[in-house]
Amino acid sequence: MSGIPQEAALRARMVEVMQAMDARGLNRGTSGNVSARCGPDMLVTPSGVPAGRLTAEHMVLIRPDGSSPEGALKPSSEWRMHQGILDRRPDVGAVVHCHSRHATILACAGRPIPAMHYMVAVSGGSSVPVAPYATFGSVELAQAVVEALDGRYATLMANHGQIVAAPNLDFALAIAEEVEEQAAVYWGTLAIGGPSLLAEDEMDRILLRFKSYGQR
Ligand code: 13P
Ligand code: ZN
Repeated sequence: MSGIPQEAALRARMVEVMQAMDARGLNRGTSGNVSARCGPDMLVTPSGVPAGRLTAEHMVLIRPDGSSPEGALKPSSEWRMHQGILDRRPDVGAVVHCHSRHATILACAGRPIPAMHYMVAVSGGSSVPVAPYATFGSVELAQAVVEALDGRYATLMANHGQIVAAPNLDFALAIAEEVEEQAAVYWGTLAIGGPSLLAEDEMDRILLRFKSYGQR
């Protein structure tokens, strides 16, 4: 362990987030991965371990130079994507990636989620874009995702799934669930002629309102 005081709590919460995604149908099998900023380092889920078998000790610490402590498990194939986001976004403390069904349907069709419901703004923008396709685990995918996020919390990933970058793990999980819900709603509207869209200035008001929404 790196000795960062919250490391043990982060490891435990990462396992819970992976298991919650599995239980809620956002992921299945070994799909998806999670990371959290841990001081100057990053913790990321190991590659190819089903959520139900994960333990806190399995979480892989990755240093800024890409190295891990002796004996660590092989990190998620997407560790560069997670590290790329954490490097570029000081506002982000956790990243959650999943292959939730409706987000993946839209991602496979190359369809961004438009401004059709105020909850789309939970993604940090007036729409949820689609990052261009690149092979899973590649540096190109890491770059495409970092660019598509462009200050937002969420993006779809072409022919793959969705990814959320947020201040913390709980926030990231909640946004991933909402992106899946909005993807399902959009997909539903496409079956009955398509959504009626909200105006851009209304989405701006909603984005502003979200900054002070809920209990502070
Ligand atoms: P890992 O098991 O290597 O994290 O891969 C899962 C995945 O979703 C790749 O995009
Ligand atoms: Zn994936």
